[in-house]
Amino acid sequence: MLVRLSLDFIMLDHLKYFLFSTAPWVYFMTRTLTVYKSKRMLLSTIHLGTYLLSNMLIRLLNLIKNTTAPVVLQQIFYYHRCQYADYIKVFTDGSKADGHVGFGVTMDDASYSHILSVFCSVYTAEEMEISYALKLISSSQYRKFCIYGDSMRVLQQLENIESATHPISLNIADTVQCLKKKGFDIIFCWTPSHVGILGNEKADNVARTASILLKHTVPFADILKSVQHYIFNKGQETWDLQVNNKLHRIKPSLVLWPIFPIRGFSVKLTRLRIGHTWYTYIHLLYGDSVPLSTSCNEVQTVDHILTKCPDFNSSRLNFLKPLF
Ligand SMILES: [Zn+2]
Repeated sequence: MLVRLSLDFIMLDHLKYFLFSTAPWVYFMTRTLTVYKSKRMLLSTIHLGTYLLSNMLIRLLNLIKNTTAPVVLQQIFYYHRCQYADYIKVFTDGSKADGHVGFGVTMDDASYSHILSVFCSVYTAEEMEISYALKLISSSQYRKFCIYGDSMRVLQQLENIESATHPISLNIADTVQCLKKKGFDIIFCWTPSHVGILGNEKADNVARTASILLKHTVPFADILKSVQHYIFNKGQETWDLQVNNKLHRIKPSLVLWPIFPIRGFSVKLTRLRIGHTWYTYIHLLYGDSVPLSTSCNEVQTVDHILTKCPDFNSSRLNFLKPLF
């Protein structure tokens, strides 16, 4: 079951030339490329024919995507195509938006797309697109293919298949192994999205406009997440109607607040939020009348003290200045 996939990357040699012209990156890039190249050499020595993706390289590629002009990324891509001109190019893309989950695959001039169950995560869609591409490849007479996908996390997962738990990842690994036995040569290549690489744009477009439902099983984790999301939304809808509940103003959204690592801080903050403090509630224990401010004659609630009361103007300026 354990397999490693051939993972290729956009034109590293050309990349090195491009990167080294950017002074602040040079040291970082040099180390990154060295790490990558040494692994590549090691692996080719033991005939695995596999390229490893180091974490540093992933960060590097993301950095490049965010700081590089699209035209440069396009050039890198076209150079890669020249290097692998005898491999049929297969582009894949997945999308999830407004209740529409779909994926698109383009192989040469043909394009294929399907919608998936609304329970599916975008990650599942990204896995499904690779799985579907392999299915198309398996029925081809040709043997060499390069799958271009823009999901780095899917490629990372395939690269570290030993730690994979997603059922479709495991299925992809099995399929690749079977296809290799049949003589297929399949490489995977990450491509940046939305930078004008035509195949990627086309796959993105067909994924968004997919209309044919694909029969498939939904991973348990996706169902669980959808159910949790549904229950949360139902709870929020009910809470949204509780406008007369004094706690509604304090916490209109049911999203969990961050927790302080020191419990004492959390206790104080909670007391301030709900307004139940020794200072504002002690009169109840002693049976006294409600304490009023000396200057404004208003009831001394936490909210009044912190935001309005003139008695505390100077303290407010001292301690809460950034908020006012
Ligand atoms: Zn006051």
